[in-house]
Amino acid sequence: MKRIVVLGGGESGIGSAVLAKTKNFDVFISDKGKIKDEYKKILVEYDIDFEENRHTENKILNADEIVKSPGIPDKAPVFTKIKEKGINVISEIEFAGRYCNAKKICITGSNGKTTTATLIHFLLKSAGINAGLAGNIGKSFAMQVATENHDYYVLELSSFQLDGMYEFKADIAVLLNITPDHLDRYDYKLENYARSKFRIIQNMNDDDCFIFCADDKITMEHIEKIVSKAKMLPFSQRTSAAQSSYIENHSLLAKVNSNTFSILVNDLSLKGRHNIYNSMAAAITGKVLDIKNEIIRRSLSTFKGVEHRLEFVLSIGGIKFINDSKATNVNSVWYALDSINDKIVWIAGGTDKGNNYNEITDLVREKVRAIVCLGIDNSKILSFFKDAVPVIVETRSARDAVEKSYELACSGDTVLLSPACASFDLFENYEDRGEQFKKAVRNL
Ligand code: ADP
Repeated sequence: MKRIVVLGGGESGIGSAVLAKTKNFDVFISDKGKIKDEYKKILVEYDIDFEENRHTENKILNADEIVKSPGIPDKAPVFTKIKEKGINVISEIEFAGRYCNAKKICITGSNGKTTTATLIHFLLKSAGINAGLAGNIGKSFAMQVATENHDYYVLELSSFQLDGMYEFKADIAVLLNITPDHLDRYDYKLENYARSKFRIIQNMNDDDCFIFCADDKITMEHIEKIVSKAKMLPFSQRTSAAQSSYIENHSLLAKVNSNTFSILVNDLSLKGRHNIYNSMAAAITGKVLDIKNEIIRRSLSTFKGVEHRLEFVLSIGGIKFINDSKATNVNSVWYALDSINDKIVWIAGGTDKGNNYNEITDLVREKVRAIVCLGIDNSKILSFFKDAVPVIVETRSARDAVEKSYELACSGDTVLLSPACASFDLFENYEDRGEQFKKAVRNL
């Protein structure tokens, strides 16, 4: 019996272990930290051998193949021996892909993955297609393959997932954008990170489709170097020439096989320039799948958006509050600031990931009335913006930040939580930060 060892007992690891068990492998799962009780219950239920708080080498190095959770860096010590022994290491998506005949629509990019994957899934469901949504969202792909039955999957794929993928093939691949992020895991080389994103199109044939953003500089630099059989379906807000989706007369158009879809940009439910790109990717996908224009239009105009991404919370005394807690890098803050036409009180800060704020300085100068820092060490924001913004204050709780912002804002302004930083200094995660923000707004 072949032995599969799963490293990491989180959502994707548990799914992989269950899938391996249902495929009659000898399965062992090992986590260097604690495994959540709810996951342990599943392991017991499926009679899967596991350990936590350690990696026992002789129970790992006898594996025929290893499924590694995306959260574990390649440089973790256990991998030195695994490499020496030449054991094949793959990601959950690669593993589950082997047992899944459904069509796969895969979404990657530095920003917008969750929004676009959720939107495309909503579109498919609206068209009556039996589709699962997985990847970095909700229930793992492997668990769904083991316990559910879908005709289509929409998969959100991070570069860490893509790094462990070799034979997997997407039927439709969407690459939204490439901006520097997670470079610590790529030897600080943008080239390596970009190459990892492009794995999304590996193994594609001529009836598969590659949807990408022609306005994205790094994507376009790399596309020249790759050879792919896939149909190229680019989208752009700058030009209509040779594009599968573009803007004309205030409408978003999507054209595939000479059949054209259109919707007024104003009718898109997701606002902001970045969300036009996300909607374009979804519209092209809809056309490729031959979904009726009417259904695509209804989906793009009624989609509710995803929590913590430019999420409107409340309007109090003429002041709007927006929760964009998921904006953990500078590029997403650029799009948030760009999408708001009012004066802004901007709540920012947290754990800095090597941010360079140059990209947003002009927008901040033009639109931001005051900055409310929400972090333990705010020195970088203070020094960067001291000459650009008249008022900068520091706070260390969501409640304080919201109350200060409310004081500083005038009627007609927007208070925007779009931190540009990770949340771990003061919060459990970005969801916790967003929840606390919304609670504080509701308590005003
Ligand atoms: P991801 O899953 O890639 O992290 P999300 O959909 O969760 O992306 O959005 C993360 C942040 O990026 C949010 O602040 C959101 O408003 C912003 N964003 C969404 N789509 C885009 C895009 N196409 N380009 C840039 N920023 C985006």
